[in-house]
Amino acid sequence: MRFTSKLPHVGTTIFTVMTSLARELGAINLAQGFPDYDPPERLKELLEKSVQTGHNQYAHMAGVLELRQAIASKLEVSYGRRIDAENEITITLGATEAIFSAIAGLVHPGDEVILLDPSYDSYAPAVILAGGRPIHIPLQPPSFRVDWQRVRDAVTPRLRMVMINTPHNPTGAIIRPAELDMLAEILRPTDAFVLADEVYEHMVFDGAKHASIVAHDELFERGIATYSFGKPMHATGWRVGYAVARPEITREIRRVHQFNTFSIAAPLQHAIADFLREVPEHSGQLNDYYQRKRDLFLGALRGSRFTWTPSEGTYFQLLDFRQISDATDVEFADRLVRDVKVASIPVSVFYETPPKLSVVRFCFAKTDSTLEQAAERLRRM
Ligand code: GLN
Repeated sequence: MRFTSKLPHVGTTIFTVMTSLARELGAINLAQGFPDYDPPERLKELLEKSVQTGHNQYAHMAGVLELRQAIASKLEVSYGRRIDAENEITITLGATEAIFSAIAGLVHPGDEVILLDPSYDSYAPAVILAGGRPIHIPLQPPSFRVDWQRVRDAVTPRLRMVMINTPHNPTGAIIRPAELDMLAEILRPTDAFVLADEVYEHMVFDGAKHASIVAHDELFERGIATYSFGKPMHATGWRVGYAVARPEITREIRRVHQFNTFSIAAPLQHAIADFLREVPEHSGQLNDYYQRKRDLFLGALRGSRFTWTPSEGTYFQLLDFRQISDATDVEFADRLVRDVKVASIPVSVFYETPPKLSVVRFCFAKTDSTLEQAAERLRRM
């Protein structure tokens, strides 16, 4: 039988590759972004309760209503907008499904979608599977800010969507509120959506505030904001995320979602809904929590030959290895995991046309002792 691949250029995701390698080599895994600690005790208890009290059959296709209501309250507190829990929130299988379903539901064959490279590795394949054409625009190293003039120059009549990600994975850069105004102005004459991946909304440092498209009157009219509970709940394995968009846009997302995952694990949704009601202050504490971890990691690296700019958001930190080696970032990450036994993520894999980069990404959602041990190994380089 003969067939051709629909995604011939796609290999196994770098996260799976590096985590497998870390396991095989017994390395400290600062590669794939997940905590090496558990969700809050109370959340685990609530999950047990949720199974025991019979939340074990299909949840509503769009998500458990109590969870959507708890999210709506959270969004109102964070971004000052009243969101309709019935018609504007859809619970998805992690933010990855929210992004996939939004692209599959909104991008037509031949439509152009602007991606800012380095871009998270699920974006371009989702666009290609929808028949769309990814238009890659590089961010500006070393700060990885958006060059809005290049975005403006890339607008064509075929433009259907611009994807942004703030705080940004893998670089840790954040988009400022004035930049959202700029994007709104650029898109005003178009029929393009804005898909904002905001999964690191609660990890923003040094007093900065997360600029959400939900808080932006103009962008939200054409926007889809995607989120995940994996990050704030320290539960990446639960795979519960959501998409927030106006009812007409949400309708298209749900048309795909219902025939893809249909609905998300019911006990997990009930547990999270109960937790949000009981401990509404939880996510607000994460900025400080992760800033402390970032600072602990960077403090422990003092005296090493790596250089860095402290991450503005996310639980990732880029380290520049130029003073240690002139290898490519892929070669360097490979050497790091094999010889030094610390796993990281090379950044060039998130580009369509990779520049020569001398930075690798480290996840600092780890216990203090894991971070100290890793830093101790990195200092020896
Ligand atoms: N978001 C995680 C990261 O950036 C990875 C998630 C995944 O492996 N699919 O590391």
